[in-house]
Amino acid sequence: MKWRGRERSSNIQDRRGTGGMGGFGRMGGNPFGRNGGGMRLPIPTGRAGGGGIGGIVGIIVILGIIWFATGQNPLDMLTGGGGAVAPAGSSAQSRPLPEAGEDELADFVGVVVRENERLWEDVFAQNNLDYTPPQVILFTAQTNSGCGVADARTGPFYCPVDQSVYIDLSFYDELRSQFGAPGDFAQAYVLAHEVGHHVQQVTGILPEFNRARQGLSQEEANRWSVRIELQADCYAGIWANYAGQQNLLENGDIEEAINAADQIGDDTLQERMQGYAVPKTFNHGTSQQRMTWFQRGFQTGDVSQCDTFAANV
Ligand SMILES: [Zn+2]
Repeated sequence: MKWRGRERSSNIQDRRGTGGMGGFGRMGGNPFGRNGGGMRLPIPTGRAGGGGIGGIVGIIVILGIIWFATGQNPLDMLTGGGGAVAPAGSSAQSRPLPEAGEDELADFVGVVVRENERLWEDVFAQNNLDYTPPQVILFTAQTNSGCGVADARTGPFYCPVDQSVYIDLSFYDELRSQFGAPGDFAQAYVLAHEVGHHVQQVTGILPEFNRARQGLSQEEANRWSVRIELQADCYAGIWANYAGQQNLLENGDIEEAINAADQIGDDTLQERMQGYAVPKTFNHGTSQQRMTWFQRGFQTGDVSQCDTFAANV
């Protein structure tokens, strides 16, 4: 991606190297642990829009499954509900200072975030709406968020409570080495996906999901979640289209993003980790779905093509 020398967002908060919350221990063990243990949902009621909002403020659940022994969970978002964001850490493995190369990465993030702001300001303006962009918080190891403790192990996420994207830049190393998704445009896709969740927040889709999920079974909630996530992938594709219009794309960029979408599909991740996939637990979409929706956004550049709720996903 041709990003050097371009304007950076002023909505970046750099909390790297501040010492954060202190050290933490790697979770290890069962990578499904948090998802399985953290959410307790009532018996299905058949209502789609029913549940109250009582449980929303307070403890927050991470929707996704935690992958790999490091506990990374790529491209997650936070929603209201029961459960904990991150267990209180104990042992010592903090990383007090940004690692070499991360300052350039922070510059890159600043540019990508700024270009996302331009895109969504345009889209909202075309609909006579104001757009307030999210804050993007760079952190090391752990930091406080409106959704509880943000932990590097969970991967980048969007917190609707404080309307902020959280990312520990070391995730990008993992994206390349563990998830098999190298390249700067894979990294840009991650950010654009999380910004996509913010767009869902301000358009009301994410709050609606958070209300509805109170009355949904786990499997029903997963099905909603897939549509939420695929829409964020489609929005990331819309941004890729916009990046093309701004002449930011280099050869191979789109392939990097599509490969990332492929590598972090639920089926691919589960098969890689445990040797088989359990479709009813999917909450982000299969590799094919994620690639398809990213490409739909990229090819059309049309937000109305991202209605994953009306579509047969
Ligand atoms: Zn997501």
